[in-house]
Amino acid sequence: MNRLLPPLLLLSCLLLSACATNPVSGRQNFVMMSTDKEVRTGAQMHPQIVQQYGLYNNQALQKYVDRVGQELARVSHRPELNYRFTLLDSPVINAFALPGGYIYITRGLLIYLNSVDQLAAVLGHELGHVTARHSVQQQAAAGAANIGYTIGSILVPGLGSAGVSDLFNVVSTGILRGYGRDHELEADRLGAIYLARAGYEPEAMIDVIRVLKDQDSFAAERAKAEGREHQGYHGLFSTHPDNDDRLHNVVGTAAALAEAGPRKGLDKSFLSRLDGLVFGDSSHQGIRRNNSFYHKSLDIRVQFPDQWTLENSAKQLTARAPEGSAVMIMLSDTRPENLTPLQYITNTMKLKPLAGHQSLDIKNSPGASIQTKIPSRSGIQVGRVSVRYLGETAYIFLGVPKDQNQLSTYDSEFLEAARSLRRLTPAEAKLAAPLQVHLITANSHTRISQLAEGSAITNYPEAQLRLLNQLYPDREPVPGQTLKIIR
Ligand SMILES: [Zn+2]
Repeated sequence: MNRLLPPLLLLSCLLLSACATNPVSGRQNFVMMSTDKEVRTGAQMHPQIVQQYGLYNNQALQKYVDRVGQELARVSHRPELNYRFTLLDSPVINAFALPGGYIYITRGLLIYLNSVDQLAAVLGHELGHVTARHSVQQQAAAGAANIGYTIGSILVPGLGSAGVSDLFNVVSTGILRGYGRDHELEADRLGAIYLARAGYEPEAMIDVIRVLKDQDSFAAERAKAEGREHQGYHGLFSTHPDNDDRLHNVVGTAAALAEAGPRKGLDKSFLSRLDGLVFGDSSHQGIRRNNSFYHKSLDIRVQFPDQWTLENSAKQLTARAPEGSAVMIMLSDTRPENLTPLQYITNTMKLKPLAGHQSLDIKNSPGASIQTKIPSRSGIQVGRVSVRYLGETAYIFLGVPKDQNQLSTYDSEFLEAARSLRRLTPAEAKLAAPLQVHLITANSHTRISQLAEGSAITNYPEAQLRLLNQLYPDREPVPGQTLKIIR
């Protein structure tokens, strides 16, 4: 699975060449950092991860994820590290590890799992990357490959760390790249061993890879139906088919360590823990529907251009034009008392208009917008900055084309998005409520297509229900089976 490696870390690890012994292979590896350095690096990055994704606000579920992870860590090759397993509040399907024992799973991945063994498989795989010190090795490689790569972070005073965010550097570079086939296989092998040692089913490793592969098939179907090109969604899939002989070998070897017994399969007590889990966007981070963004507690709605994709994090909303040719980010700040929106741009953000400014005053909401040069880590980027005040909040919109000469192509879209900000209508307030998992028991008449008709899922409800219950692409539940539905 992917891991997240912020750019600062990339640069800093170019300077590292401490010797350390690989705890799994026992060999010396010159690219490794010391355990101390690993732990410090993880501890330094952890707050940034939490800030970017947000913690899922459910103590019982957080504790449960950590407990399962700790059981595996205890029987791992590096039991002495201080591990922390965290459930992130993101609809994105992901799990990753930082150096030093920080391991993450998103609720977006958790919701597709159906047994505690599968959860243990995800955590065990990431744990394998940590115990084999893959992240550290990969960092050096990724760093070398990324020398000279342009990092499009915006550095604007007054926006704090929220403004320091990658614009064009998210998925396509080494930053979120997988580890490569050998490392993935090794993580699976180690994960399977830890599963066996801790009393879980090593075969769950294969189940999880199937879950991810089904997601990829669904994404491909969907892209085809919508006339888009399917971009390999998870680095893991290209390197890691579930019919991989080597994978079955390593899992089989681990399974031989485990006590013989029938496979447990679906796990009702695990599923009951997922009752109420948020599906898709959560209301406190805002809900995306088509290309609109609704935020209930802020009481706002914003419309972004068709075909753009929206990514939501705890701190900001990012909209990307097709092929990443332009990016818009939306942030919020407390409305300053004595500054107009234009003064906010020029005084607080310290940005100067290239030409004049445009008023964005709309009813009781003052606003201003300028074309400007935005300082970023890679130099100056030409773009548009708009600020709108609504209630007690200042909303900041930064729009930047990837090609500096293309501002005129995207300029009206940058402006339109800033103009579209307004209060929710009563009907939209309903849209701004999150969807959640509920559990039902299938009987002999239960069909997924029927459940899909009454589902609150707007896009592809039948496929989604099958994915959630591991019945993709066309299986039906057996009578008595506990099913996740979405309401
Ligand atoms: Zn992995």
